[in-house]
Amino acid sequence: EALKTISGTTGPGRTSDGHAVALLANVGSGKDAAAATDAEGVGLFRTELLFLDRTREPGLDEQVAAYREVFAAMAGRRVVIRTLDAGADKPLPFLHQDGEPNPALGVRGLRIARQRPEVLTTQLAAIAQAAIQTDADVWVMAPMVSTVAEAAEFAALVHEAGLPKAGVMIEVPAAALRAEKLLGVVDFLSIGTNDLSQYTFAADRQVGTLAELLDPWQPALLQLIAACGAAGKATGKSVGVCGEAASDPALAPVLAGLGITSLSMSARALPAVRASLAAHSLAECERLAAAVLDAEDPVHARKLVS
Ligand code: PEP
Ligand code: MG
Repeated sequence: EALKTISGTTGPGRTSDGHAVALLANVGSGKDAAAATDAEGVGLFRTELLFLDRTREPGLDEQVAAYREVFAAMAGRRVVIRTLDAGADKPLPFLHQDGEPNPALGVRGLRIARQRPEVLTTQLAAIAQAAIQTDADVWVMAPMVSTVAEAAEFAALVHEAGLPKAGVMIEVPAAALRAEKLLGVVDFLSIGTNDLSQYTFAADRQVGTLAELLDPWQPALLQLIAACGAAGKATGKSVGVCGEAASDPALAPVLAGLGITSLSMSARALPAVRASLAAHSLAECERLAAAVLDAEDPVHARKLVS
Protein backbone atom coordinates (compact mmCIF):
# COMPACT_ATOMS: atom_id res chain seq x y z
CA GLU A 1 0.00 0.00 0.00
CA ALA A 2 2.87 2.33 0.89
CA LEU A 3 4.51 1.56 -2.44
CA LYS A 4 1.27 2.29 -4.25
CA THR A 5 1.07 5.71 -2.60
CA ILE A 6 4.65 6.53 -3.51
CA SER A 7 4.22 5.42 -7.11
CA GLY A 8 1.05 7.49 -7.24
CA THR A 9 2.60 10.79 -6.21
CA THR A 10 5.66 11.10 -8.42
CA GLY A 11 6.77 9.82 -11.81
CA PRO A 12 4.84 9.16 -15.00
CA GLY A 13 1.06 8.64 -15.05
CA ARG A 14 0.11 4.98 -14.74
CA THR A 15 -2.91 2.96 -13.72
CA SER A 16 -2.31 0.43 -10.92
CA ASP A 17 -1.55 -2.21 -13.58
CA GLY A 18 0.86 -0.01 -15.51
CA HIS A 19 -1.25 1.40 -18.36
CA ALA A 20 0.36 4.75 -19.29
CA VAL A 21 -1.59 8.02 -19.30
CA ALA A 22 0.90 10.88 -19.79
CA LEU A 23 0.54 13.65 -17.21
CA LEU A 24 1.34 16.99 -18.82
CA ALA A 25 1.24 20.66 -17.84
CA ASN A 26 -0.68 23.60 -19.30
CA VAL A 27 1.68 26.58 -19.58
CA GLY A 28 1.68 30.10 -20.97
CA SER A 29 5.33 31.05 -20.53
CA GLY A 30 8.85 29.81 -19.85
CA LYS A 31 8.31 30.59 -16.20
CA ASP A 32 5.31 28.23 -16.04
CA ALA A 33 7.28 25.55 -17.87
CA ALA A 34 10.25 25.83 -15.51
CA ALA A 35 7.89 25.38 -12.56
CA ALA A 36 6.31 22.24 -14.04
CA THR A 37 9.12 19.93 -12.90
CA ASP A 38 6.60 17.27 -11.99
CA ALA A 39 5.14 16.95 -15.51
CA GLU A 40 6.08 14.50 -18.26
CA GLY A 41 5.95 17.42 -20.67
CA VAL A 42 3.65 20.22 -21.78
CA GLY A 43 0.24 19.27 -23.17
CA LEU A 44 -0.91 22.81 -23.91
CA PHE A 45 1.37 25.78 -24.46
CA ARG A 46 -1.03 28.71 -24.88
CA THR A 47 0.83 31.22 -27.06
CA GLU A 48 -1.68 34.03 -26.61
CA LEU A 49 0.26 35.59 -23.73
CA LEU A 50 2.91 36.91 -26.11
CA PHE A 51 0.27 38.54 -28.30
CA LEU A 52 -1.95 40.10 -25.61
CA ASP A 53 -2.17 43.86 -25.07
CA ARG A 54 -0.23 44.71 -28.20
CA THR A 55 -1.13 46.82 -31.14
CA ARG A 56 1.22 44.92 -33.47
CA GLU A 57 2.08 41.27 -33.90
CA PRO A 58 5.34 40.23 -32.16
CA GLY A 59 8.13 39.76 -34.74
CA LEU A 60 9.69 36.45 -35.72
CA ASP A 61 12.76 36.78 -33.47
CA GLU A 62 10.72 37.71 -30.44
CA GLN A 63 8.49 34.70 -31.02
CA VAL A 64 11.48 32.35 -31.47
CA ALA A 65 12.90 33.54 -28.13
CA ALA A 66 9.61 33.05 -26.27
CA TYR A 67 8.97 29.55 -27.67
CA ARG A 68 12.59 28.51 -27.12
CA GLU A 69 12.27 29.36 -23.43
CA VAL A 70 9.47 26.83 -22.99
CA PHE A 71 11.12 24.19 -25.20
CA ALA A 72 14.44 24.53 -23.34
CA ALA A 73 12.70 24.09 -19.97
CA MET A 74 11.27 20.81 -21.28
CA ALA A 75 14.45 19.37 -22.83
CA GLY A 76 13.89 15.77 -23.90
CA ARG A 77 10.17 15.98 -23.14
CA ARG A 78 7.03 16.54 -25.21
CA VAL A 79 5.78 20.10 -25.76
CA VAL A 80 2.41 20.51 -27.46
CA ILE A 81 2.34 24.11 -28.63
CA ARG A 82 -0.95 25.64 -29.76
CA THR A 83 -1.01 28.22 -32.50
CA LEU A 84 -2.63 31.53 -31.70
CA ASP A 85 -6.16 31.23 -30.34
CA ALA A 86 -7.45 34.78 -30.76
CA GLY A 87 -11.05 35.89 -30.72
CA ALA A 88 -14.09 35.31 -28.49
CA ASP A 89 -12.83 35.23 -24.86
CA LYS A 90 -9.29 36.13 -26.09
CA PRO A 91 -9.69 39.22 -28.33
CA LEU A 92 -6.50 40.75 -29.74
CA PRO A 93 -6.37 44.38 -30.81
CA PHE A 94 -4.28 43.77 -33.94
CA LEU A 95 -6.61 41.04 -35.18
CA HIS A 96 -9.92 42.06 -33.71
CA GLN A 97 -13.03 41.54 -35.75
CA ASP A 98 -15.23 44.60 -35.88
CA GLY A 99 -18.80 44.13 -34.89
CA GLU A 100 -19.20 40.36 -34.88
CA PRO A 101 -22.58 39.80 -33.21
CA ASN A 102 -21.44 36.45 -31.70
CA PRO A 103 -17.64 36.43 -31.33
CA ALA A 104 -17.61 32.88 -29.91
CA LEU A 105 -19.22 31.74 -33.17
CA GLY A 106 -17.18 34.07 -35.33
CA VAL A 107 -13.74 34.24 -36.86
CA ARG A 108 -11.60 32.87 -34.03
CA GLY A 109 -8.78 30.36 -33.57
CA LEU A 110 -7.63 28.71 -36.79
CA ARG A 111 -10.37 30.53 -38.73
CA ILE A 112 -8.29 33.73 -38.54
CA ALA A 113 -5.67 32.07 -40.74
CA ARG A 114 -8.05 32.29 -43.69
CA GLN A 115 -8.00 36.10 -43.47
CA ARG A 116 -4.48 36.58 -42.12
CA PRO A 117 -2.41 33.62 -43.35
CA GLU A 118 0.88 35.39 -42.61
CA VAL A 119 0.16 35.42 -38.87
CA LEU A 120 0.04 31.61 -38.85
CA THR A 121 2.95 31.03 -41.22
CA THR A 122 5.19 33.42 -39.24
CA GLN A 123 4.25 31.65 -36.04
CA LEU A 124 4.99 28.21 -37.53
CA ALA A 125 8.36 29.45 -38.81
CA ALA A 126 9.19 30.75 -35.32
CA ILE A 127 8.15 27.44 -33.72
CA ALA A 128 10.31 25.50 -36.19
CA GLN A 129 13.35 27.71 -35.51
CA ALA A 130 12.92 27.41 -31.75
CA ALA A 131 12.45 23.65 -32.03
CA ILE A 132 15.74 23.21 -33.90
CA GLN A 133 17.58 25.10 -31.17
CA THR A 134 16.43 22.73 -28.39
CA ASP A 135 15.84 19.00 -28.02
CA ALA A 136 12.21 19.15 -26.88
CA ASP A 137 9.80 16.86 -28.75
CA VAL A 138 7.65 19.58 -30.33
CA TRP A 139 4.07 18.85 -31.43
CA VAL A 140 1.97 21.65 -32.98
CA MET A 141 -1.80 21.96 -32.80
CA ALA A 142 -4.50 24.35 -33.98
CA PRO A 143 -7.43 25.64 -31.91
CA MET A 144 -11.07 25.82 -32.99
CA VAL A 145 -11.01 23.34 -35.84
CA SER A 146 -14.38 22.21 -37.23
CA THR A 147 -13.72 20.15 -40.35
CA VAL A 148 -11.32 17.58 -41.78
CA ALA A 149 -10.47 20.02 -44.59
CA GLU A 150 -9.30 22.62 -42.04
CA ALA A 151 -7.22 20.00 -40.24
CA ALA A 152 -5.61 18.85 -43.50
CA GLU A 153 -4.75 22.43 -44.50
CA PHE A 154 -3.22 23.05 -41.10
CA ALA A 155 -1.20 19.82 -41.15
CA ALA A 156 0.18 20.72 -44.58
CA LEU A 157 1.37 24.10 -43.28
CA VAL A 158 2.96 22.52 -40.20
CA HIS A 159 4.85 20.01 -42.34
CA GLU A 160 5.89 22.72 -44.83
CA ALA A 161 7.46 24.58 -41.90
CA GLY A 162 9.56 21.47 -41.23
CA LEU A 163 7.70 20.38 -38.11
CA PRO A 164 6.89 16.66 -38.06
CA LYS A 165 3.92 16.42 -35.71
CA ALA A 166 0.60 18.18 -36.40
CA GLY A 167 -2.63 17.89 -34.45
CA VAL A 168 -5.89 19.66 -33.79
CA MET A 169 -7.93 20.56 -30.76
CA ILE A 170 -11.38 19.09 -30.40
CA GLU A 171 -13.46 22.04 -29.22
CA VAL A 172 -16.41 21.87 -31.59
CA PRO A 173 -18.93 18.98 -31.54
CA ALA A 174 -18.64 18.63 -35.33
CA ALA A 175 -14.95 17.81 -34.91
CA ALA A 176 -15.59 15.27 -32.13
CA LEU A 177 -18.11 13.49 -34.35
CA ARG A 178 -15.49 13.21 -37.08
CA ALA A 179 -12.58 12.26 -34.81
CA GLU A 180 -11.54 9.19 -36.76
CA LYS A 181 -11.54 11.06 -40.08
CA LEU A 182 -9.50 13.83 -38.46
CA LEU A 183 -6.94 11.25 -37.33
CA GLY A 184 -6.65 10.28 -40.98
CA VAL A 185 -4.99 13.66 -41.66
CA VAL A 186 -3.30 14.62 -38.36
CA ASP A 187 -1.08 12.83 -35.84
CA PHE A 188 -2.98 13.56 -32.64
CA LEU A 189 -6.04 15.16 -31.07
CA SER A 190 -6.32 17.22 -27.89
CA ILE A 191 -9.76 17.78 -26.44
CA GLY A 192 -10.39 21.30 -25.11
CA THR A 193 -13.26 20.56 -22.79
CA ASN A 194 -13.81 24.22 -21.88
CA ASP A 195 -14.85 25.13 -25.39
CA LEU A 196 -16.27 21.69 -26.22
CA SER A 197 -18.70 22.13 -23.29
CA GLN A 198 -19.56 25.64 -24.38
CA TYR A 199 -20.40 24.58 -27.93
CA THR A 200 -22.09 21.30 -27.02
CA PHE A 201 -24.46 22.90 -24.53
CA ALA A 202 -24.76 26.28 -26.27
CA ALA A 203 -23.72 27.78 -22.93
CA ASP A 204 -21.26 30.67 -22.74
CA ARG A 205 -18.21 29.52 -20.75
CA GLN A 206 -17.93 32.98 -19.18
CA VAL A 207 -21.44 32.96 -17.72
CA GLY A 208 -21.17 31.59 -14.18
CA THR A 209 -24.88 30.92 -13.83
CA LEU A 210 -24.60 28.28 -16.57
CA ALA A 211 -22.05 26.23 -14.59
CA GLU A 212 -24.36 23.23 -14.37
CA LEU A 213 -24.42 22.88 -18.15
CA LEU A 214 -20.65 23.34 -18.32
CA ASP A 215 -20.00 20.54 -15.80
CA PRO A 216 -17.40 18.12 -17.26
CA TRP A 217 -19.41 15.21 -15.83
CA GLN A 218 -22.28 15.92 -18.25
CA PRO A 219 -22.86 12.60 -20.03
CA ALA A 220 -23.25 14.32 -23.42
CA LEU A 221 -19.78 15.80 -23.11
CA LEU A 222 -18.36 12.45 -21.99
CA GLN A 223 -20.02 10.79 -24.98
CA LEU A 224 -18.16 13.12 -27.34
CA ILE A 225 -14.92 12.43 -25.47
CA ALA A 226 -15.66 8.70 -25.80
CA ALA A 227 -15.99 9.09 -29.58
CA CYS A 228 -12.55 10.70 -29.69
CA GLY A 229 -11.03 8.03 -27.42
CA ALA A 230 -12.44 5.28 -29.63
CA ALA A 231 -10.98 6.97 -32.71
CA GLY A 232 -7.61 7.10 -30.97
CA LYS A 233 -7.76 3.40 -30.15
CA ALA A 234 -8.83 2.51 -33.71
CA THR A 235 -5.94 4.43 -35.25
CA GLY A 236 -3.30 3.98 -32.54
CA LYS A 237 -2.86 7.76 -32.29
CA SER A 238 -2.73 10.02 -29.21
CA VAL A 239 -5.91 11.61 -27.92
CA GLY A 240 -5.44 13.88 -24.91
CA VAL A 241 -7.61 16.15 -22.79
CA CYS A 242 -6.26 19.62 -22.01
CA GLY A 243 -9.33 21.49 -20.70
CA GLU A 244 -10.34 21.90 -17.05
CA ALA A 245 -11.82 18.39 -17.02
CA ALA A 246 -8.30 16.96 -17.06
CA SER A 247 -7.55 18.32 -13.58
CA ASP A 248 -10.43 16.54 -11.81
CA PRO A 249 -8.89 13.54 -9.96
CA ALA A 250 -12.20 11.65 -9.82
CA LEU A 251 -12.68 12.02 -13.56
CA ALA A 252 -9.14 10.87 -14.49
CA PRO A 253 -9.88 7.11 -14.32
CA VAL A 254 -13.05 7.67 -16.37
CA LEU A 255 -11.08 9.51 -19.06
CA ALA A 256 -8.42 6.78 -19.08
CA GLY A 257 -11.21 4.23 -19.49
CA LEU A 258 -12.58 6.18 -22.45
CA GLY A 259 -9.25 5.75 -24.25
CA ILE A 260 -7.64 9.10 -23.42
CA THR A 261 -3.83 8.81 -23.55
CA SER A 262 -2.77 12.06 -21.87
CA LEU A 263 -4.13 14.59 -19.39
CA SER A 264 -2.83 18.16 -19.36
CA MET A 265 -3.55 20.55 -16.50
CA SER A 266 -2.05 23.29 -14.35
CA ALA A 267 1.03 21.84 -12.67
CA ARG A 268 -0.39 22.04 -9.16
CA ALA A 269 -3.21 19.63 -10.10
CA LEU A 270 -0.82 16.85 -11.18
CA PRO A 271 -0.18 14.99 -7.88
CA ALA A 272 -3.86 14.32 -7.08
CA VAL A 273 -4.60 13.17 -10.64
CA ARG A 274 -1.53 10.93 -10.63
CA ALA A 275 -2.61 9.34 -7.33
CA SER A 276 -6.15 8.77 -8.58
CA LEU A 277 -4.95 6.98 -11.73
CA ALA A 278 -2.56 4.84 -9.68
CA ALA A 279 -5.47 3.68 -7.52
CA HIS A 280 -7.36 2.04 -10.44
CA SER A 281 -6.60 -0.73 -12.89
CA LEU A 282 -7.33 -0.17 -16.58
CA ALA A 283 -10.21 -2.67 -16.37
CA GLU A 284 -11.70 -0.65 -13.48
CA CYS A 285 -11.27 2.55 -15.49
CA GLU A 286 -13.12 0.96 -18.41
CA ARG A 287 -15.93 -0.21 -16.14
CA LEU A 288 -16.30 3.27 -14.65
CA ALA A 289 -16.28 4.83 -18.11
CA ALA A 290 -19.07 2.56 -19.33
CA ALA A 291 -21.15 3.26 -16.21
CA VAL A 292 -20.71 7.02 -16.45
CA LEU A 293 -21.70 7.08 -20.13
CA ASP A 294 -24.93 5.37 -19.10
CA ALA A 295 -25.68 7.85 -16.27
CA GLU A 296 -28.69 10.14 -16.51
CA ASP A 297 -26.96 13.31 -15.38
CA PRO A 298 -23.76 14.65 -13.80
CA VAL A 299 -24.97 13.97 -10.24
CA HIS A 300 -25.51 10.28 -10.98
CA ALA A 301 -22.29 10.09 -12.97
CA ARG A 302 -20.28 11.39 -9.99
CA LYS A 303 -22.04 9.03 -7.59
CA LEU A 304 -21.07 6.02 -9.70
CA VAL A 305 -17.42 6.88 -9.32
CA SER A 306 -17.28 7.98 -5.69
C1 PEP B 1 -10.35 24.55 -23.92
O1 PEP B 1 -11.13 25.19 -24.62
O2 PEP B 1 -10.70 23.61 -23.18
C2 PEP B 1 -8.91 24.88 -23.90
C3 PEP B 1 -8.03 24.10 -23.30
O3 PEP B 1 -8.52 26.03 -24.50
P1 PEP B 1 -8.78 27.50 -23.85
O4 PEP B 1 -9.27 27.29 -22.46
O5 PEP B 1 -7.47 28.20 -23.96
O6 PEP B 1 -9.84 28.04 -24.78
MG1 MG C 1 -10.41 26.56 -26.13
